[in-house]
Amino acid sequence: MQDRELYRRILGIEAPWFVDRVELKLDGGEVHVYLDHHEMQNWQCAECGAGCKLYDHQPERQWRHLDTCQYQTILHARPPRSECSEHGVRVVKLAWAEPSSRFTALFEALAIEWLKQASQSAVAKQMGLSWDEIHHIMERAVKRGLRRRQAEPIPALGVDEKAFRRGHRYFTLVNDLAQRRVLYVAENRTQESLDGFWSTLSQEQLQSIEAVALDMWDPYINSVRAHLKEAGKKIVFDKFHIAKHLGEAVDKVRRRENKTLRAAGDDRLVGTRYDWLRHPAGMEPEDRRQFSELRNSGLKTARAWALKEAMMAFFSYTYERPARKHFRWWFNWAVRSRLGPMKETARMLHRRFENIVTYLKHRLTNAASESINAKVQWVKYTARGFRNKQNFVDAIYFHCGGLDLTP
Ligand SMILES: [Zn+2]
Repeated sequence: MQDRELYRRILGIEAPWFVDRVELKLDGGEVHVYLDHHEMQNWQCAECGAGCKLYDHQPERQWRHLDTCQYQTILHARPPRSECSEHGVRVVKLAWAEPSSRFTALFEALAIEWLKQASQSAVAKQMGLSWDEIHHIMERAVKRGLRRRQAEPIPALGVDEKAFRRGHRYFTLVNDLAQRRVLYVAENRTQESLDGFWSTLSQEQLQSIEAVALDMWDPYINSVRAHLKEAGKKIVFDKFHIAKHLGEAVDKVRRRENKTLRAAGDDRLVGTRYDWLRHPAGMEPEDRRQFSELRNSGLKTARAWALKEAMMAFFSYTYERPARKHFRWWFNWAVRSRLGPMKETARMLHRRFENIVTYLKHRLTNAASESINAKVQWVKYTARGFRNKQNFVDAIYFHCGGLDLTP
């Protein structure tokens, strides 16, 4: 078998194309495969598929292909242009590559598979590509995937902010909580960040949204209110975000009290910060015994902690009426507690309450996006080589977008 026929078979080249010649550059470790085509009457218009006659050829182009026998393999061809009566002169679609790519479709598919497992720099090194080339492949894969997305219903949304580079930079992520994928990524955490999302949805999709899990963050709240009908019934403030606020308030109480106690030579609260954030059920027996002494000590911190636990009990109610009653009782206790940070948090929750109580109907939290978060963490971890913000955004879509990426 001639090497031309061999390469035609390896590369899967089909009529009217054939391998014209093969040049082996042993010292450079490269094989150059030159393609040509037989004469053909019917070239398909890239726009409408109508049969057209050949107009001319573009200058020769190159595509990097999968290595063959450990040689970098490069295809060469002159792309034909067809002349359509309706669309005029167009470059025909080539079977082995997408229009603007310098790689064959198979090569890109392999790069994409590897990118799912390893960092961009590792894949670039392994495949002998520059950083820009590998990033370009990822970027094109994301565009392709976003283009292919169907307008599916999204009953449960979660809006999450992500700090990047130690909080110097924020991104807003909109998650599809049912399918556990990222729908949208934007820079910053302003109202504009979230505003950009809504126009990516069809009318049917907008109407399909039943609930949105949110942090108590006004820019996000304003955006949801501006774009979603009956937003008041659909916004659910995230339970874990509420727990975080209460935990911070408890810690403020503890820090102040610790100062006063230490001034009097009492070290009971030193080093207990994390004990007050954990649930006693998860503690070792000895720790639990010590902690229970602290809790029953009558310290201010212990009262603040009890307030936090009582508020979180709200989320185990099934029905709205007794849950509202529980909250009223809790709020009265909290504002009379003489614990400044707890009073402040209680007033904030009181003001937000109508979108806290919606939890009982929708049972929605951002915890459903935990599998997404784990992947985002991985993207952040492998992000050391990221040159810019857009690269980070692309990587989030690539790994967390649930997209169909291959050419
Ligand atoms: Zn046409």
